[in-house]
Amino acid sequence: MKTISFVRNMIYTGDLILVNRDYPYRGESSYKALMPIDSVNVKVLLARHVVSIYNNLINKLKAQNRITVVSGWRSQKEQEEIFNESLMKHGKNFTSKYVALPGHSEHQTGLALDLALNQPDIDFLRPCFPNTGVCASFRKKADRFGFIERYPEGKEDITGIAYEPWHFRYVGFPHSIIMKQTGDTLEEYHARIRQYLYGRSFLKYDFGSFRTEISYLPADKEVVRFLMDEDTPYTVSGNNMDGFVITVWRAGR
Ligand SMILES: [Zn+2]
Repeated sequence: MKTISFVRNMIYTGDLILVNRDYPYRGESSYKALMPIDSVNVKVLLARHVVSIYNNLINKLKAQNRITVVSGWRSQKEQEEIFNESLMKHGKNFTSKYVALPGHSEHQTGLALDLALNQPDIDFLRPCFPNTGVCASFRKKADRFGFIERYPEGKEDITGIAYEPWHFRYVGFPHSIIMKQTGDTLEEYHARIRQYLYGRSFLKYDFGSFRTEISYLPADKEVVRFLMDEDTPYTVSGNNMDGFVITVWRAGR
């Protein structure tokens, strides 16, 4: 066994952070951690690891010219501009449904992207990403690559955002697959994981010859310490609320 330590502030970083009306984004995306999504959309930036995973998925679908990224990372200033412009053009009702308050947008994390079917006259705020053709194929495979549809239909009360079939969020594997299977939004997934306290129990997910064990570790001190088996791969993400999600990867089932 070895002891791992994390400072509490790390709860605001990682692929599983929950950013919504209740929990603002507290991290700071630096330009160093971001890169252009592809050579066509050089102004659309995303977290580096998300860029390569997204492009793997697009290559697999041979969708380079058929799907385009409308919006990726946004600075606080850009989110303010988009919010204010939407207020002026479309009013308060529309804006509160489709545009997150500045500071509360997933786009500020570099982990979220808005997609559109590549065609003339793309609507920036509500791009067309139908459930047919190449867009349906993208949706079908997205969870295998760590992406979720973040604002599904029927979950508006939970997410606080209207149905947005074009908005995808990277949360990483195997969380994306579990969320698709259970139908959990990110809010519900965190509530689920919270029931599995690290060191006592875990949510198990098997695939191939691997077994993952997912659990929650509260960050109740300035420095949080926990024990981990030697030579065992694991990933940690903050939840942006009050703790960490720890995923342990074990070989053999
Ligand atoms: Zn979006």
